[in-house]
Amino acid sequence: MKINPENLLKVWKSKGQILEGIVNKVFKQDHIEEISAERMSICSSNLCGMYDPDGSSERAAVKGQPACAGCGCALELKTRCLSCHCHLKDINQHPLWEAVVSPAEETLLRERMTQPDGAQEDTATQG
Ligand code: SF4
Repeated sequence: MKINPENLLKVWKSKGQILEGIVNKVFKQDHIEEISAERMSICSSNLCGMYDPDGSSERAAVKGQPACAGCGCALELKTRCLSCHCHLKDINQHPLWEAVVSPAEETLLRERMTQPDGAQEDTATQG
């Protein structure tokens, strides 16, 4: 799979491409950071009116860090969770960003990313 770096984020936004990247072991922590940065820019634009820049809102789980005042999640974690979506979806409004993989697919990704290369090869060749 050949990827143009300039279009990387666009490519990773496609669920199928992310799964292919996971299977081919080319999806890395750097790609998660790119997705997180884009999500964070959306949250911090405060289009939703729920961006809490210093975690001072009542629901903020971690005080002193950017949070979503709607769900209380620390955005440093929420935006890196590939199976998470914008809180607006939970209150039946149009989300400003979506999950890019399912929870099961994210588990697979995390397993792949923490396995040494040799172990990944072994897993990939098992039935
Ligand atoms: S997750 Fe959604 S509702 Fe929460 S701060 Fe980000 S854009 Fe706003």
